[in-house]
Amino acid sequence: MQPLRHHLAAAAILLLAAPAAAAPPKVAPILAEARDSASYARPAEARVTHVALDLAADFAARRLSGTATLDLQASPAAREIVLDSKGLAVRSVRDGAGRPLPFAFGASDPEKGAALTVRLNGARRIRIDYSSAADAEALQWLTPAQTAGKRHPFLFSQGQPTLNRSWIPTQDSPGIRQTWEARITVPEPLGAVMSGERLTPKGERAGPGRRAFRFRMDKPVAPYLIALAVGDLAFQRLGPRTGVYAEPATIRAAAAELVDTEKMVAAAERLYGPYRWGRYDMIVLPPAFPYGGMENPTLTFLTPTFIAGDRSLVGLVAHELSHSWSGNLVTNAVWADSWLNEGVTSYFENRIMEALYGPARASQEAALSWADMEAAFAELGRDAPGTRLHDPSDAEASGIVYDKGATFLRTLERTVGRQRFDAWLRSYFDRHAFEPMTSQRFLADLRATLVRGDRALEERLQLDRWVYAPGLPDNAARPDPAAFARVDAALAAFDAGGGAAAVPYAGWTTAERLRFLNGLPRTLPQPRLAELDRALGLTAGTNAETLFAWLQLALANRYAPAVPAAERFLLSQGRTKFVAPLFKTLLAQGEWGRPIAERLYAKARPGYHSVTTGRVDKLMKP
Ligand SMILES: [Zn+2]
Repeated sequence: MQPLRHHLAAAAILLLAAPAAAAPPKVAPILAEARDSASYARPAEARVTHVALDLAADFAARRLSGTATLDLQASPAAREIVLDSKGLAVRSVRDGAGRPLPFAFGASDPEKGAALTVRLNGARRIRIDYSSAADAEALQWLTPAQTAGKRHPFLFSQGQPTLNRSWIPTQDSPGIRQTWEARITVPEPLGAVMSGERLTPKGERAGPGRRAFRFRMDKPVAPYLIALAVGDLAFQRLGPRTGVYAEPATIRAAAAELVDTEKMVAAAERLYGPYRWGRYDMIVLPPAFPYGGMENPTLTFLTPTFIAGDRSLVGLVAHELSHSWSGNLVTNAVWADSWLNEGVTSYFENRIMEALYGPARASQEAALSWADMEAAFAELGRDAPGTRLHDPSDAEASGIVYDKGATFLRTLERTVGRQRFDAWLRSYFDRHAFEPMTSQRFLADLRATLVRGDRALEERLQLDRWVYAPGLPDNAARPDPAAFARVDAALAAFDAGGGAAAVPYAGWTTAERLRFLNGLPRTLPQPRLAELDRALGLTAGTNAETLFAWLQLALANRYAPAVPAAERFLLSQGRTKFVAPLFKTLLAQGEWGRPIAERLYAKARPGYHSVTTGRVDKLMKP
């Protein structure tokens, strides 16, 4: 462990001498001050440094079975190592020479799972023979009917934030970085991909009817970033180091939507330094994927709902790509600091959008993000603890960790000037590459390398208020008021009784359409809703973001003609961001909405991931 003080003292020198891309450390440091309450691990005594998986995917039993071989670093006095686990069936634990080691599970917690404690007897390598449970939270086993192609089953994993312990017995804490390798066997003709170097793209024979795929990640990563997908996969090259995997039924639309990816990687590098992960590929998953995207290293996982046909939702790709720096390279050590991953990334995403598509589009998207932040303040209360960047009480409030976080960085940029800010952020990624990060350390770095004793600047920035206090400091960088001038004028005209046919919706960008739909009065009479629907073609819309915005308004006003579209939408995708709010809106409509919500949820629930059902199950309780 590197003492914090020494590290920061060296920072000013490193700023000038930072190598273009330092080699990743073999064993990444752990921060003593970052205590992860979501993990049982005691890394100061014994920690995992490398994970080697050898697992077979069994679609009939919905299990991954095989071995995890863990390399450890332990103090000489360490008698045992504590791992995280959830629902794992462990058959044996052995040392490097094959001798059995005693192990025991602690009490099981519904969130954290159970500690798996292994007596080391001096071992520094242990091999765990185990299976995941059929209901492992990280794993989604899709039937052929739940895929786009309808012919083969599909499996994908989602590790963030603490789900990987349901299929990998390791120390599942973002501050404990680990290198890894894996061999995964799957039934033919399926293929497997993982979030590391894909060593055998076509696989190798592995007994009758099965193929094995091997992977390697030689850079230490947070364990939530180990990810697997298995299915009938096609691949389309996009550029020298970029490409996309998807089911054959989806690959063409996916590749067309992602045509700018190589340019995005180049733009990101020009902004904040080298992309250090080799390839940047993506996989477009079946519609049950609960997130918009997941930044698994070398292989972003994407929802198919970003495919709009006009590349209007590729901000999502810019976002996941940005995580290759903020999140994967420099990682929140504990989830209470997830703004360090998401807020920095949301800012970075917007800079990529500006570089590729120009300042007008970027300022529109920044203005939407500001509105999401304002919505979070309105929902949580401006002075509620949930509106703090560090340790918000409701970490699911994306308006805070994403949008207030991005606003903080934008405020820093405007205060010190873009050139100086960009140089700092780039050097921050260099200085802390492959390291965990905390709010405290982030602020210390800012002070040591950007503020550098300038008292007037320190006062203007209000750093502690931004990170530790609720609400919004008064120096916040506001969005460009001109970004939506045309839309706001149309909203005002409609508000004043103007007809929907006068709204120039067809000529607007997706951001402008969202601004309009979200800016309409929340209570509208049925004839006005019908008029909007007819003139703008809202219920028939296919862009997931604008359809969602419309359905939120329509269902909140008990507009029955939108219910069939809501049903189609809720049954055709399982993205939590869309699904949970729509059910919430229906349920808020009491005797009108609850029966609809119950009917739709009964149909849709089997196709959803546990991340989504976990949220909606809670909402559905009377
Ligand atoms: Zn993100």
